[in-house]
Amino acid sequence: MGQATTRPTDPDSNRETIGENAPGHTQTEKHVVIIGAGLSGLTAAYELQEAAKKAGQPLRLTLLESRSRIGGAIWTEKIDGFLCEGGADSFITNKPWGMQLCHRLGLGGELIGTDQRNRRSFVLRKGQILAVPEGFVLMAPSRIWPILTSPILSWKAKLRIVLEPFIPRGDASLDESLASFVRRRLGNETLERLVQPLVGGIYTADPNDLSLRATMPQFIEMEQKHGSLLRGSLFKRRSGNDIEKSSSGARYGLFATLKAGMGRLIEALGESLPKGTIQLNSAVRRVQKGADGQGWTIDLLNGPQISADGLVMATETHASARLMDEFDPELARLLRSIPYASSAIALVGFDRDKIKHPLNGFGLVIPTTENRKTLAISFTSVKLPDRAPEGKVLLRVFVGGATQPELFDLPDEEIEKIALTEVRELLGAEGPPCLYRLARHARAMPQYTIGHQDRVRQISDRVATHNRLVIASNAISGVGIPDCIRTGQLAAQRLLEQLEF
Ligand SMILES: Cc1cc2nc3c(=O)[nH]c(=O)nc-3n(C[C@H](O)[C@H](O)[C@H](O)COP(=O)(O)OP(=O)(O)OC[C@H]3O[C@@H](n4cnc5c(N)ncnc54)[C@H](O)[C@@H]3O)c2cc1C
Repeated sequence: MGQATTRPTDPDSNRETIGENAPGHTQTEKHVVIIGAGLSGLTAAYELQEAAKKAGQPLRLTLLESRSRIGGAIWTEKIDGFLCEGGADSFITNKPWGMQLCHRLGLGGELIGTDQRNRRSFVLRKGQILAVPEGFVLMAPSRIWPILTSPILSWKAKLRIVLEPFIPRGDASLDESLASFVRRRLGNETLERLVQPLVGGIYTADPNDLSLRATMPQFIEMEQKHGSLLRGSLFKRRSGNDIEKSSSGARYGLFATLKAGMGRLIEALGESLPKGTIQLNSAVRRVQKGADGQGWTIDLLNGPQISADGLVMATETHASARLMDEFDPELARLLRSIPYASSAIALVGFDRDKIKHPLNGFGLVIPTTENRKTLAISFTSVKLPDRAPEGKVLLRVFVGGATQPELFDLPDEEIEKIALTEVRELLGAEGPPCLYRLARHARAMPQYTIGHQDRVRQISDRVATHNRLVIASNAISGVGIPDCIRTGQLAAQRLLEQLEF
């Protein structure tokens, strides 16, 4: 194909021309359309552009985004001196793609880590806020004494942990749920009181449904290699492989962000693309194969039809399914088979002296067995510097997720009431907050449930039957920021091979 053509749906339209009549078009130039300007789509666009520059090949990109801003699940806003993150606020660095991309974009000097002090999480137990035992990271207990002395677990549960090395290995070929694995190795109490709230906060998921293999395969590896989580994490600690010597809950020393927030990464990616590449308020309605069977035609809800030589689908998989219903119903069905959860983050600012709790940790996670209306409260301004003005604190209250979907469906005012009640009852906040903002994420978090890897394999096989079509998504091989960057990079590479760059 090699040429992009315009077929205006409305001859009188004075909308921007897209295709061969567009300024700067040459006969040999290839045109790639990326649908969805979240992190996955933006990274794909960036990588496509960088590779084309390197190869000295002309390439034109169009990035279509239905919203009035780029970034998808990531947005950052400075409000009244608070640095508000509506979505992701940091990323893990043991997967290198996040750090590498920041350096390539010239953001290396803006990277910051979490505060060295207070690297611990709290968990709610019978309404009381208790520290997660030191060295207990997600589901691996690397130190015994803090567990034995923790009031979170009963003696029976502690004994169960101590006996964990004697539990036989499971069958690694099975796609076991995270809950079943933890119940088998550490017992039900540790699952309910510690692991469920810690892990549930990451995936906004129910661990009974989560596939361990698709989410945290390192624990299967630990079980297979060392025969035990306890032995595996003690081994890691002793061999100096564990950079987390004193964290509890998450591996906080492994997290980084940007001084101005995660929105800075989105902004830098957007700025790296030529002017006119990104088209906001451009919801795609349908994609179809081009007449010559090589390229693609893309119909907007409101705008001219666009032709492209290559297509990157970087929308949530349920959104991609809708766009593909006509040209490949089977692919659409497979994409729809990935479930999603919705969640809301209430950003709440208070004067420091209006909160009784010392906030001497990075946040509080809440087991479902506590029957509260929030999944977690992050003490954002304790975890990261410069997130709140002097004398004030910024909290992020998580509501909804796979375990409490009905709460996400409540009107904004109800969610506000819930968030403020939880902060008052749990942390002893008094009076009205000095900041309140709500960020809603409808069906934004893919759920890596049992069978996820098979579903992804089937999707990949089906996509491979279509020339010059690739998918970049947080539903494929990880939901975290580095994973989204990686999926964008791999999608760009695959498409470039098919475009014969
Ligand atoms: C509340 C929350 C907190 C998180 N916190 C963290 C964290 O702290 N650390 C971390 O590493 N990860 C975190 N994540 C995960 C991570 O932020 C996301 O997985 C990632 O940002 C998703 O990027 P994406 O591009 O794959 O998808 P999205 O950001 O969902 O982007 C998809 C884009 O496609 C657009 N779109 C959809 N349909 C159409 C259409 N028809 N036409 C045009 N455009 C369309 C959407 O508007 C959207 O902009 C969090 C996620 C959520 C939801």
